[in-house]
This record gives sequence, C-alpha cells and structure tokens, in this order.
Amino acid sequence: MPKNGTGVSSNFITEIIDADVESGKYGRRVHTRFPPEPNGYLHIGHAKSICLNFGIAAQYGGLCNLRYDDTNPTKEEEEYVRSIQVDVKWLGFDWQDRLFYASDYFDKLCEFAFHLIRAGKAYVCDLSADQIRQTRGTLTEPGKDSPYRNRSVDENLELFERMKAGEFPDGSRVLRAKIDMSSGNLNMRDPIMYRILRASHHRTGNKWCVYPTYDFAHGQSDSIEGITHSICTLEFEDHRPLYDWYLDNLGIHHPRQIEFARLNLTYTVLSKRRLLQLVEDGHVNGWDDPRMPTISGVRRRGYTTEAIRTFCETIGVAKRGSVVDIALLEHCLREDLNRRAPRYMAVLRPLRVVIENYPEDREEEFDALNNPEDASAGTRKVPFSRVLYVERDDFREVPPPKFHRLTPGNEVRLRYSYCIKCVGVVKDEKTGEIVELRCTFDPETRGERTPDGRKVRGTIHWVSATHALDAEVRLYDHLFTKPFPGDVEEGAESETAAVGGPAGTPDGVPAGESAVPSARATDWKSDLSPASLETLTTCKLEPALAGATPGFRCQFERLGYFCVDADSSAERLVFNRTVTLRDTWAKIEKTQKSGGE
Ligand code: ATP
Ligand code: MG
Repeated sequence: MPKNGTGVSSNFITEIIDADVESGKYGRRVHTRFPPEPNGYLHIGHAKSICLNFGIAAQYGGLCNLRYDDTNPTKEEEEYVRSIQVDVKWLGFDWQDRLFYASDYFDKLCEFAFHLIRAGKAYVCDLSADQIRQTRGTLTEPGKDSPYRNRSVDENLELFERMKAGEFPDGSRVLRAKIDMSSGNLNMRDPIMYRILRASHHRTGNKWCVYPTYDFAHGQSDSIEGITHSICTLEFEDHRPLYDWYLDNLGIHHPRQIEFARLNLTYTVLSKRRLLQLVEDGHVNGWDDPRMPTISGVRRRGYTTEAIRTFCETIGVAKRGSVVDIALLEHCLREDLNRRAPRYMAVLRPLRVVIENYPEDREEEFDALNNPEDASAGTRKVPFSRVLYVERDDFREVPPPKFHRLTPGNEVRLRYSYCIKCVGVVKDEKTGEIVELRCTFDPETRGERTPDGRKVRGTIHWVSATHALDAEVRLYDHLFTKPFPGDVEEGAESETAAVGGPAGTPDGVPAGESAVPSARATDWKSDLSPASLETLTTCKLEPALAGATPGFRCQFERLGYFCVDADSSAERLVFNRTVTLRDTWAKIEKTQKSGGE
C-alpha cells in the first residue's frame, strides 16, 4: 500500500478526503472523532478505529475528538468512561481539550426533536415495543402506518412535552420520525427518536426520563461538533440514509459518513457484548485478563503500543469485511519486542543438575548479551555454580531422532558458559520420576569455544540454583480453540441486525448489536479453550531480574517474550507470557510468497 510519509497508508477513505479537501467542501478542514459507547472496555477492533481517526486527523493537520456516545443509561458506567481514556492515551493519541459526551447535547437534541415535530416530521406513537416491531414489516413486505401517525402538530408537541415531564410510564409512548413505512430500508420506517426510560444517567443523573436513541443522537452529535468526516464501520451503511434525513430536515452541518469493514481476528471474539459475557460468567478474570482482546488485556499481557499501531497500519482499511489471522498481530509484536526486549535466562519447569566435577565452594560469573539485536544494550553478569536448573524439556532419557539437547552421554553447551555431559540420572524410587541429573563439565570449554574444535550441537539455557529467584509464570494460549468461535464470523451477526434486527428499538439496543443472537451463534462459548491459561509456580529466574516491576518486558531465552504482571510483588515475581518465539505468520507469509497455500 502506498505511504505518504505520515505513517498512514493512502486508501479509499483518504481518497475521498483528498477530493473533499481539493474541492474545499468543508473549507479544507479535516475533523474526525472516535465515538465509543461507554458500555464496555475497548478492544483491538476499536484500536483500529482509533488509529484510523486520529491518524487521519494527524495526516491532514486536522483534529480528532474523543466523544462518548452515552445515550443508553442502563448499560453505561463511569468505569468504562475512565478506561477508554486510559486506552486511547496508551495508544499514543491526544484529543487535547476535545473530550465530549453526547449527553452534553441532550438539550440540543431535544430542541431538534421539537423542530421536527413542528415541521410535521415527527410524532408521538402509543404502540408498544412489540406492536412497533410487528408493524415494521420485513425486507420483502412494507410496514404498516401507526394509527397515531397523523396526530396534529399541536397534539404531538403537547404529548412530547408531557413525555419529557414524566407524565407517562416507561415504554408507554415513543417519539418517531415520520418518514416512510414502505421504504426498502427498514431504518427509514418511522424510526424511534426518543423513548421514556426512568434510569439514572452517569452524567445527567435523574434530569431526564426521555432519552434519544443512538440513531437520533449520533449524526447530530457529529454535526454539532463540526465533524467533517464521520468514519464508522459497515453496519452503519444502512443507517446513513436515516442520518442524512435527520441532518437535512434539521438543516444543520452535514458531515460525510464513510464506512469501512470492522476488524475481525481469528481465535477471538470482538464484540463488547460477548466480552462482557466472558467477564460476567467468570470465563476470564476481568476485562484486563491477559487473554482478553481488550486493549487493557493485551497491555497487561505485555503488548506494546508500537506493535498494535504497526498492526493497524499493516491491515489497512477495506470496504468489505474479512478476518485477519491473529498470527499477524503476534508477528507485529515479536518484531517489536525482538528489537528492544532485553534477554534473560529463566527455567520454567526446573530439573536439578549437579555438576560433579565442579567444586562445591566455587562460583563464577559469565558475561551475557542483553540484546543481540542492539549492541548498545550491553552485557550483564550471570552467576554459575555447582548446582543448576535446566528445563525439563531439554532432557530426554531416550532421545527422539534429531534431539540435540541433553541426553545420557551427550554433550551440550550451557549458554554463555561450559559444555556439560550427563553421566547419571537420579529418579524418585516410588514414582520413577527424574528428580536430578548428574553431569560433568569440561573446564576447557569456557565461553563459546571448544579447545579441540569438537562439535557440540545443542545450547540450552540454565539458572544457578543458589542464585535463582523464584517466580510464577502464566502461560497463555488463544482463548478459543477454533479460528471462528461458534463458527459465525464476527460482524456477520451485527450486519444482519442492521438490516432486519431490533436496532434502535425502544429498549435501547444500540445500532449494530443484535439483542437476540442468531441461532448459529449461540454456542460460541463452547469453543472456549480449556488450555488458555497454564500457571507454573516453581519457575527459576536469573538474579538480574530482581526488582523488576509490573509492565517490565523481556525475552526469556529460547522461550518467548514475557512481562511482569500487576499481581507481582517484591517477594514474589509473577510473569505473563506475552508471546512465544515461534512465528507462525512468518511461515504463512513464506508459503504465500512461494505460491503455496
Ligand atoms: P462492539 O460491536 O464491540 O460492541 P461497538 O461498535 O458497539 O463495538 P462502539 O463503542 O460503538 O462499539 O465503537 C466505537 C467506534 O469503534 C465505532 O466507530 C465503531 O464503528 C468502531 N469499532 C467497533 N468495533 C470495531 C471493529 N471490530 N473494527 C473497527 N472498528 C470498530
Ligand atoms: Mg456500537
């Protein structure tokens, strides 16, 4: 994809904006916004939208607002409001003094409603939610006019005034736009603008008992803020005619809406509703569980801002939906961590090794490279002594073919230090489990060399037992066992909802979210992986890691990238495995390049 030196690729969205800038449509201004509903934590899909909106503003020397679309008091919480700001900042973006709330516009939106009533373009309808649904028609059949559709302007004004004043019970009446019950677009069949709802709002408290629907608030909020380009995901394509209708009939500033395909990732669900279910049902330990695709989850897992931004840049934007292989995200992360993560040695499943010909009272230190990718990272000292730990996996009593690690009689190099040979295996008498290896070392092999030039094929990592730090290490794997959990592509569901579902109904289901999951989607939770978390509690780390604090990232040689978890304390370090070293994406790319699939 061509780049224009700003880090943002040119694409169909920038082409539209280029044309608007050229024609002077908005006085050459470019003003975007990121408009989350504060009803959950942000996920990687939102990161794509954030990078896109803030990225485009930066690219054109424009502005980008952060605006909460907080029109649904029953699902919104202060905790979400706070987390969203933390996440956007962590991604490296700055809304400066432009932090807004749709709820700040409730008065203005109410005025807009009165305006449409006075123009004969909105009416109070006494049908129940069920009746409205039933008379809405289908994709092939037109809807039926409400018996209240032809109320006089005066009656509508009075009734809406009384709705607002709290004279009617919840759900008893709604305000609807008077558009066209036989429109081919279901969103245009007299959609609901206001509903009666006695719910306390996180910002306006109990001031209101009528709340605008998402569809009535979203476009007008963009307009009020002078947004030039309202970039949103595809499920809003069918809502665009409605947003246009509101803006045109109100005669106010009209941003241009551009839709792009939402990000879907394999082995992942990206929907706040589903993520909330995982949290509420206890499948994960909160929104920031390192297995969650939330921004707070991947941050705790050890992901870097740079990796996520590179990922978003790499996938670009498209007009039609597709699913991105999670291996690409992991690839971006490895590339970044490989450049900057310092290396250490850690043994996750320790096996004790006694070096019989190494004096008991002796200790020495070896110089280890902090980062072979970065000469300026320098070296550190690693202590060595008679008793060490090595990885259980690095020893086989009966080695399979091509196993070049430790086996009886075979010599391996201990990284940065000596070559050792296994001369004995100690087993637990009862269980037969190997509890210790007896080895000898060759003092002539200090450093990287062998004096006689003999070949030692394997190099393994180790930690000196007397110097080792104890730690807990949490190994994470994909949260789901299948690339498409529940076998339904994310987004497919919400697109259905946008066409025929209950979007914008009086119960306040936001656009693009189905209240009734499709039958095919009901069992996505049965694809949750039982192996997504493995906790190892007897890990041994080299002493240089003492004092590492939460957020610290490093590579454990031969094992992967890890970071210190927030559960860590000075007494007991807790590490998360961020990602393994094996790069499946590099493999995929290689096969693709060589023409294979
Ligand atoms: P979800 O479907 O996960 O509940 P949402 O669309 O309801 O998400 P919002 O808070 O409304 O969440 O989203 C804020 C912005 O982020 C919107 O402009 C939306 O289009 C965009 N967005 C949400 N999910 C994705 C995604 N998977 N990929 C790209 N953009 C997304
Ligand atoms: Mg939404």
